[in-house]
Amino acid sequence: MNVLVVNAGSSSLKYQLFDTTAGVVRAKGLCERIGIDGKIKHTNLETGAVYEKEIAMANHTVATKIVIDALTSAEYGSVKDMAEIEAVGHRVVHGGAYFSESVLVTPEVMEKLELCRDLAPLHTPAHIMGIEGCTEAMPGTPQVLVFDTAFHTATMPEHVYTYPLEYEFCQKYAVRRYGAHGTSHRYVAGECAKLLGGAEGTKIVTCHLGNGSSISAVKDGKVLDTSMGFTPLAGIEMGTRCGDIDPAIVPYIMTKTGMTPDEVNNYMNKKCGFLGVSGVSSDCRDVASAAKEGNHRAQLALDIVVYEIQKFIGAYTVAMGGLDAVVFTAGIGENDCGMRERVCAGLEFLGVDFDKEKNQGRYSEATELTKPGSKVKVFMIPTNEELVIAKDTEAIVNAL
Ligand code: ADP
Repeated sequence: MNVLVVNAGSSSLKYQLFDTTAGVVRAKGLCERIGIDGKIKHTNLETGAVYEKEIAMANHTVATKIVIDALTSAEYGSVKDMAEIEAVGHRVVHGGAYFSESVLVTPEVMEKLELCRDLAPLHTPAHIMGIEGCTEAMPGTPQVLVFDTAFHTATMPEHVYTYPLEYEFCQKYAVRRYGAHGTSHRYVAGECAKLLGGAEGTKIVTCHLGNGSSISAVKDGKVLDTSMGFTPLAGIEMGTRCGDIDPAIVPYIMTKTGMTPDEVNNYMNKKCGFLGVSGVSSDCRDVASAAKEGNHRAQLALDIVVYEIQKFIGAYTVAMGGLDAVVFTAGIGENDCGMRERVCAGLEFLGVDFDKEKNQGRYSEATELTKPGSKVKVFMIPTNEELVIAKDTEAIVNAL
């Protein structure tokens, strides 16, 4: 089945055209600066043809039409006409408590998605525009929504997702732990379970470490807990996000600086984390090279994140009553062997026999980084959220 996977951000739209039967990506591309001016980069992965152009994109509907022109172009396109694209799968950042699995787009689903606006004010409007853009450009083509929160909200127990605030308050304002990066955690946990011989009885900690980072405890293939919370600000230190801090710091900052709620939220999302602590960069590579040159604050930023990752692994090991495997994924998890080595250096007592030499290699496929016979295994598994979206879309559309 030819499935177009769409990831609509506030001013961007990334896409991939999958042939799910052959399991290959046929084309991919990115529209940027939507609503500002507009630019597309499209690559036909079968022929290698690349198309790059600056074109006005007033909104996501216009961007979608430009994507369709690219996909159907005689010169660099992949299909003769849009009828060959059998379904569209959308990445959706927040499904609230309304969606704990992928769903077909219907008017009722769109009504519920509207209710998620407050929970992800930057992303939801972009998703809605992306869906509307596809509906207009490809009327009649089924569309499926795949939620970043669903893997977590489907199975996290009540005592894990409930915050100890007033119960009625949480109910009224939908305040609870939702988690994020669920599609990535689901993919790598699934791949890890295959390597362990099946999900049943397995206890896995998945570490998605990128610009945004989250850690999940996955027991028997189901999420028990995850480090992100009501929003993706929670959990460990990230590129520019502070992660978990004493909540009393928030009103304290506001009183001291006069920041408004929006300003303090923006501050904690954009100015903290690696960037705020190191004063060097939000990019882990820059922070690591500054630390190597003796920059104390850069070293401190790294020490904090390593300690926090280890703390989550420890806590989740206890929460699951054991540990079979730790998975590293996303930009840092897949590429930063120094970070993996430092995290694993604290895990020997749990039964991790880390293979430092193997860890130094660069791999494009799932790779075990522990020595044969290690009681707890460590894997690097490249994430593939788009493939999960394409597969979910195919399954839902096939069942229609
Ligand atoms: P996003 O959350 O935006 O999807 P990514 O998953 O692409 O982010 O991760 C970005 C992070 O990955 C950055 O901190 C970057 O420094 C880090 N990273 C990417 N490649 C490497 C590499 N080769 N070595 C070390 N870190 C890397």
